[in-house]
Amino acid sequence: MIRFNCDKCDMEIEVEDDLTGTKHECLGCGDINRVPLADSIPLVDDAPINSKQRDRAAEAGFPPDFGPETRVLLVRRCWFRSRAIRFSLVVVMILVGLIGLIWVPISDKSWLWAVLFVPMVLGGAGLLVWWWIDRLGASIEITTKRTIMHRGIFSKSSSEVVHDNIRNIQVTQTFLQRVTGVGKLGISSSGQDGVELQVNHLKDPDNLRKIIDLYRPL
Ligand SMILES: [Zn+2]
Repeated sequence: MIRFNCDKCDMEIEVEDDLTGTKHECLGCGDINRVPLADSIPLVDDAPINSKQRDRAAEAGFPPDFGPETRVLLVRRCWFRSRAIRFSLVVVMILVGLIGLIWVPISDKSWLWAVLFVPMVLGGAGLLVWWWIDRLGASIEITTKRTIMHRGIFSKSSSEVVHDNIRNIQVTQTFLQRVTGVGKLGISSSGQDGVELQVNHLKDPDNLRKIIDLYRPL
């Protein structure tokens, strides 16, 4: 038997020797713990290491998979990258509007022209602000034990998937998203049908998938 204490609530947990290196849910608080190596199993240097006993996350330079839960990464959606063309067009529209507003008094044209230029500036600026708010509206937090999706700015809601329960991670990118390096990350877990967590407009989604994979028993 292997005995160890829960990372979170310190309750003593006891499991069979063959569960060494696997993850185990604490019955006291539900926290996921890594079962340490059994004292009874002799460690031989040249013996092939069981993949379950290797801490791939630590080897890749991320917070260790063994040990208490810590945040690995918090990513927000992109502001510019996820809508590069529209964003550029809006910036051009604002500039044209501003130049127009300077041109009207200089050239002594009718102020009715301002009816055209003012909405260009205000509408464009409004769009940029709206996209900024949209960007803050969703984020992905990856910890050493779970991936959490936060939604909303004022009324926060979140859903999460424990890494050990992840069945599949999908990255989908449209052609344009491929060019700008953004995409959609979808995570489905063994507990439910369909995709459970989904956030679009994330920068470098393949890298996010690789990081989550480091904390999954593969
Ligand atoms: Zn516990």
